[in-house]
Formats: sequence, C-alpha cells, structure tokens
Amino acid sequence: MKSIRVAVTCLLIGISFSGIAQQDLRTTGIAAKYAATIQPGTIRPWLEVLASPQMEGRETATKGQAMAASYIITQLKQAGVKPGAAGNWEQFYEMYEDTLIRGVIRIRNTDYHFGEDFITDLLESKSETIRTDQVVFAGYGISTASFNDYANVDVKGKVVLIREGVPGGLPRDYGITYNKLSAARAAGVRALLVISPHARNYRLLNKNKLRHTGIYMPGAAAEGPNLYYITPAMAAALLGKAYNDSLLDTRKGHLRIPVHVRVPIEITLDKKSNIYKPSNILGIVEGSDKKDEYVFVTAHYDHLGVQDSVLYPGADDDGSGTSAVMAIAAAFAKAKQEGNGPRRSVVFMLVSGEEKGLLGSGYYINHPLYPLSATVVDLNIDMIGRIDPAHERDTNYIYIIGDDKLSSELRPINEAANGITRFKLDYKYNDPGDPEDFYRRSDHYKFAQQNIPVIFYFNGTHSDYHQPGDTVEKIEFALLARRAQLVYYTAWEIANREARLKVDRSENNR
Ligand SMILES: [Zn+2]
Repeated sequence: MKSIRVAVTCLLIGISFSGIAQQDLRTTGIAAKYAATIQPGTIRPWLEVLASPQMEGRETATKGQAMAASYIITQLKQAGVKPGAAGNWEQFYEMYEDTLIRGVIRIRNTDYHFGEDFITDLLESKSETIRTDQVVFAGYGISTASFNDYANVDVKGKVVLIREGVPGGLPRDYGITYNKLSAARAAGVRALLVISPHARNYRLLNKNKLRHTGIYMPGAAAEGPNLYYITPAMAAALLGKAYNDSLLDTRKGHLRIPVHVRVPIEITLDKKSNIYKPSNILGIVEGSDKKDEYVFVTAHYDHLGVQDSVLYPGADDDGSGTSAVMAIAAAFAKAKQEGNGPRRSVVFMLVSGEEKGLLGSGYYINHPLYPLSATVVDLNIDMIGRIDPAHERDTNYIYIIGDDKLSSELRPINEAANGITRFKLDYKYNDPGDPEDFYRRSDHYKFAQQNIPVIFYFNGTHSDYHQPGDTVEKIEFALLARRAQLVYYTAWEIANREARLKVDRSENNR
C-alpha cells in the first residue's frame, strides 16, 4: 500500500509539474516560478535535522528548542529572508518552572511532610512561612448567595480548615476547588487546609512530578491563598485527642469540629523558580507599495521533547509545518531578489510554546511586532506531512479549517490557488459542531480571536500523533511540498492583490 501510494504521488508531482508550470504562466504568472522552488528535496534535509535526536524533541524552554531556533534562523538567513523581530530574529518571552525546596507543616512539635501528609499544587502556591496558634474551621468553605460558610466567622488573615465536597442537597459545583479557593480569597483567608480522604494515597503519587511545576507562563499561577490538601490523620493531629483519623474521613457525613481551634502550627513552603526565555522566530520579506500591510505564514517549531528518556521527534507535529514555512519564505525571498517581491509584506513566524497551550502565539498577540490592525491574514500550518486513516485510499487531500469564519473572500482565494495544486479540500473539521474542535487547537486561533482571518492547513491526526513514532521516515515529502505550495499560492495572492482581504464576518457567527 505504502509503496504504491508513494509511486502515485511521485507520478502526480513529476508529470503534473510541467503541466502546472504551463497553466500558471496563464493564471498566476510568475508565482509558479517560485512555487517550483518548494520541493521535497528542499524540505527533506531541514526536516531531517529538526526531527533528529540532536534537537531533543524541541520542547519549549529547553536546549533542544534553542538549537532548533538557531538552525531555523541560519537557514532563513541563507535563503535571503530578513530578520522580522525589530531587526532581530527572535522575540523572547519568559517562562518559569518551580521546584520544591521544602514543604513542611509543623503541628505542636511534629513535622508533617509534603507528598506524605499533605500536598499542594506548586503552580498554584507561592512560597510562604506562616506561624500562628489558631486555625478556623469553616465547614465546606462554600460561599454563595444561598449558602455561606464564611457568613458569621472572621477568617481574615487566618489559617482555615475546611472539608471536601458539598453538604447533601447542594449543587455539586459548589464543591469545585476553584470556587472554594475564590471564596477563601474573597474572605481574606491566609492559607486553606482541606481535609481530604484521598490524601491517604499521597504516598502512592509520583513525588518527582509533585515537586516540579513543569514550565508555565508568568500570570498562570493563582493569586492565592495556598491550598493544602491534608490527610485525615494530620487533621486529627491538628484538632487533638478527641478526633481520630476515621472520624475525619470527609466521606462520612457530619464533622463536629469547633469553629476556633487553638493549636500551634507552622507552615513552610519554599520553592525555587527557574526562568527560561524561549522564542518566537520572525522573518520578513518586505513588500513594495503595500508594505505596511502584513500577511502572516506561521507554524510552531516546538514539540514534546524527551520524556522519561524517550525522544518525541515531532516530524509531522510540527516539523512539517516549520519546514514548509521555511520553504515558502525562501520562495518569497528569491522572488524579491529577482525583482518579483510581494506588494504586501509577508511575515514568517515560527512560534514555540504551542504544545504548552498556544503560549508563543498568545505572547505574540499580546506583544505584536506589527500592528494587528494591519495584519491581513494568518495562514497557519500544523501537521501537513502525513496521511490520516480517513484518506488512506485517496491521499490527495488536505483539511482546510477556519477559512470562511471571518472573510467571505478567503475560501474563494484558497480554492483558486488550489486550482493549481488540485487537492481534495476536506472541510470536515471546519464544521463548528465537530467534537475535535481543531479550529481552536493551533496558533491561528490566537489571530482569529483578534478578527484576523485565518486558514489552518492540516492533515488530521494519526496513530503517531504525539507519540515517539512521529518520525521523519514516515513523512510523505512529495505531499508535504505540494501542500506547502498551496499555502504559498494563497499567500502570494493575498500579498499581491489590489484590495486588502475583507473582514466581513464575525467570529461569533461561524
Ligand atoms: Zn502537537
């Protein structure tokens, strides 16, 4: 099956290439000359490096990501692309990663330890030392219009003890931790201790994972107070002799605990933050008479890195999009060198942080280097080097997502471009009711939220999606190059047409 597929694809490329060239001379003129530079042979060596073990899976804020960035920049430079981040190639942003140094709660003269007697989410908690001789019991810690545990008790600046869940008859969402934390914050609670029957199992948890936050963006951490889940045994120690472990199992109905508990308690949580500076890479081919309008072509160059010593090469996700954007950039740069540069500026942005939640593109949108109001479109490529199970029989396809949401002109332009590349454009995932919701799952969505029209080019998922098996040997390079040509033709048209792409639809009406 595979060899036949490859043969057919090669046939299509090989034979149709001269056909394309002839047709283009009539329809899009010189565009085809530079499209012809976007070839499997151009893309393959780049992607082989990006997906190699040397790049360590390109996880954001790691050495692998930084090496990938410098490799990409070197290639863009060689291709004649200019730096696009205010004279530099990279837009840096900060990310943090916290590690626990010490987590101890001393009750009377006994130390209780993080990961054994209590846990807290390091990302949501700040370093603190609290010494007090009073703990306030506030029931379930619920504060709503109809039910308020904080109504008649002063908890401002106090350490507060609550139980998990909701009393019988109340809606379950009253018990959501986030709501309880917000209520505690509003009431001025200093630290929140939650008696958790599940805390019995803390010893079984992965200590190493509990003690590190993973990489996160400033602002992602909550504003406090710290919330500590404690075992019933620890709660019993806090409350004294009259209580025992089983009495405090919060699954078992009413707890008779006085509101004010006199007990010396000292909470110490000490964590250390590492600061990293990952980057978005920006290159530009400056336009001519409309150079102050910007056509964006994007992909993410980060992936999942190395996890438990296993490499996640991310050849398709999104090495394919990254190398495609590099090839499209090189084509526009060559056109410009030969006097056929675009009228509008074309910005090639390779972001990091995508796999961590669209962080790099989110940062760019909050710190744009070109006015968003002058940004005409974002053509985003995320996974175009493979074939999904739905298209194994007819591999000449690409999913098009988001093209009709904000501009009525974009689909006709992309379809006209596809008059040259001749894919079956599959709009399945463009359906707003599709449960996969891919429209919101890659970097273009950050642009769409700003009312900038987008297209997301995508091959769908496959069994190697986010797996160590997403390797370069499985990439269909002929298909990848032709899909990149489709993006290129669409970018070419939008960059060169007389009128700016209209924004005549609303995101809400999609
Ligand atoms: Zn991914």
